[in-house]
Amino acid sequence: MKVLAIASALTLVGSCATLSHKEKLQNIKDSVVFNDTELIAKYSKTITSEEINEHVYRFSSDEFLGRKAGEIGHNKAVNYLKDYYIAQQIPSPLGNDNYFQQVPSEVFPDGYKSSQNVLAFIEGSEYPDEILVISGHSDHEGHTEEVIFNGADDNGSGTAAMLEIAQAFQIAKTNGHGPKRSILFLHFTGEEVGLIGSRYYTNHPIFSLKNTVANLNTDMIGRVDDAHEDNPNYIYLIGSDRLSTELHFISETANDEFVNLELDYRYNSVNDPNQFYSRSDHYNFAQKGVPVIFYFSGTHDDYNQPTDTAEKINYPVLTKRTKLIFITAWYLANNDTRVAVDLDS
Ligand SMILES: [Zn+2]
Repeated sequence: MKVLAIASALTLVGSCATLSHKEKLQNIKDSVVFNDTELIAKYSKTITSEEINEHVYRFSSDEFLGRKAGEIGHNKAVNYLKDYYIAQQIPSPLGNDNYFQQVPSEVFPDGYKSSQNVLAFIEGSEYPDEILVISGHSDHEGHTEEVIFNGADDNGSGTAAMLEIAQAFQIAKTNGHGPKRSILFLHFTGEEVGLIGSRYYTNHPIFSLKNTVANLNTDMIGRVDDAHEDNPNYIYLIGSDRLSTELHFISETANDEFVNLELDYRYNSVNDPNQFYSRSDHYNFAQKGVPVIFYFSGTHDDYNQPTDTAEKINYPVLTKRTKLIFITAWYLANNDTRVAVDLDS
């Protein structure tokens, strides 16, 4: 009987705690209110499947030779990104058309040359010192004598999304609706050889990580995996609730009100055998206490193969996913209060 009595006492305590936890969650959820509905709808429309298609085809073309970090193809690819930001009149935070943070060869495995993180910056109008980072890696697996690893999904898809999101925010800014917080677009080098560029950035940040409010990271968001053959309108979200409950609800509300993708959290489980949470660049931000969301559409037979090519991307779905990231970013950049980090995290 004693054992049972203890058990029921525990249950009682447990249910009280659960209730108040539930109430707390509901309060946070209710606090997420999108006020700029019309502006968000207007600037979301600048994100188009046609432009995303162009970016993916170009960024994963043979011209960039598989974008292996430090090699000539990757150097060309980062210059392509720089030229894009110049053409969009989105400046670098480093000034003087210097869009590159040089990542030295010493932090790479043996045999790799130094290469570049690419940075572009839209300054906030009210809280310019608070930074939202939107990221994705620019490098891939390079080429052999026979084949080029084009990396259209990995990570042409995330790169294309970033370019469209940057353009959308810049058009809004030109029209007098620039973000209140600053947004840093960060294309990492050396992800494929161990998250090198993001580790370097988080150890040598351009803006204090204390003032970095969140990181939205894209890595492989253009395909439809076997589990979703019957419903391509999905995205895996990883990490959204690990450091900030508010971030999770901002993301959910953005989706419910504007996009309506199926948000699939199966890989967010801490026990997930794939451990995707630690396998892309956002992880280096999370390790420093910055709340993150990792956007991912899953693995496929072409993963890390030369067959990861642009015609296999689902462009309408990639466009929806890009809009979800843009709208989540809009809230994070414009809400009157900075997204809260959970005290117990
Ligand atoms: Zn990747």
